[in-house]
Amino acid sequence: MTATTTRRIPVAILGATGAVGQTFVRLLDGHPWFEVTAVAASERSAGKRYRDAAHWLSGEMPDRVASLTVAACDPAAVDAPVVFSALDSDVAESVEASFARAGRMVLSNARNYRMDADVPLLIPEVNPEHVGLLPIQRTARGWTGAIVTNSNCSTMVVALALAPLHRAFGVRQLFVTTLQALSGAGYPGVPSLDIVGNIIPFIGGGEEEKIETESLKILGTFERGAITPAPMRVSAQVTRVGVEHGHTVCMSVKFETPPSPDDAIAAIRAWKGEVSSLGLPSAPAVPVAVTMERDRPQPRRDVNAGGGMTVVVGRVRPDPVLDLRLVAMGHNTIRGAAGASILNAELLVARGIIAR
Ligand code: NAP
Repeated sequence: MTATTTRRIPVAILGATGAVGQTFVRLLDGHPWFEVTAVAASERSAGKRYRDAAHWLSGEMPDRVASLTVAACDPAAVDAPVVFSALDSDVAESVEASFARAGRMVLSNARNYRMDADVPLLIPEVNPEHVGLLPIQRTARGWTGAIVTNSNCSTMVVALALAPLHRAFGVRQLFVTTLQALSGAGYPGVPSLDIVGNIIPFIGGGEEEKIETESLKILGTFERGAITPAPMRVSAQVTRVGVEHGHTVCMSVKFETPPSPDDAIAAIRAWKGEVSSLGLPSAPAVPVAVTMERDRPQPRRDVNAGGGMTVVVGRVRPDPVLDLRLVAMGHNTIRGAAGASILNAELLVARGIIAR
């Protein structure tokens, strides 16, 4: 192979010191297409070596990133055409816009732009055609770069589990209750005395509203330059539980054409997602797996399915009020955050939107 074919695309991580930022660092270590050349965080961390700035949470810190100096979140200080953002939503809006204006492709985990009409809320297996919003976004905002978002971490589990069922049977109503892991609150997150032996039925930042709105956009259709939301109503209740990684969601679903549990399971198993032929490095072989074990999925046993990129669905059974109920679980910082952004970037490379 020549040097040209082996060159990787330089990428930066904004918010690199946080829980999601660290997951980016781990997942991008040895990535075949991307190489982390810059890390950035707040003024508290800027100027320090990454190894001194980050309170490292899991495994070994990759050597090459450990020795990088943390930059400020300023396009002039961060030299990479592709920027993964794991920024706190308090600062993401202005910082991400400054990078897009400076010509960078921003892959964002923050909530700020997700519901904007000209911003893709992308899951490659579900709605790859939503990248058609990018030329519209660039024209409307006068940016040479762009922003692509991935969903809230619980929404990701809901949207992936429902995508095959919605395509086949038309989801019309959904009740969803989440049991969300501690790593979803970032570091240091929820105080131990609040959560050990306890469940907290509230998560700030509009968590329930995010599930109720983002799911409709993700499962919506892209026609004539705009997204038409999926015609369904969603009622969400969220809880924080003492689990390290893995958001569990319990759902009761009403369909336009109600399937039997066996038909629903068959539809999920037959679904490979829209991009299975593209060879995206982070795409799991099975985006949504079904377990027939009566006490699964469980975060402890199933959270790393497909390298953390597979959502596991179980307990598919009739619902005496609506049509069907099921339990789904996915890794919140991988499938629900950093892994999702990386997969989005891979789709943009495959589509020629990010130049190799
Ligand atoms: P976190 O652990 O609190 O990390 C926040 C990051 O933002 C840190 O790197 C922090 O840098 C940086 N930051 C804070 N204030 C800043 C400022 N004024 N200027 C520049 N950088 C600043 O949070 P997280 O859980 O990783 O979440 C990051 C983002 O992803 C949030 O928008 C969150 O809603 C979203 N998200 C999280 C999850 C999840 O499962 N955790 C899932 C989906 C989406 P310092 O270390 O220097 O303070």
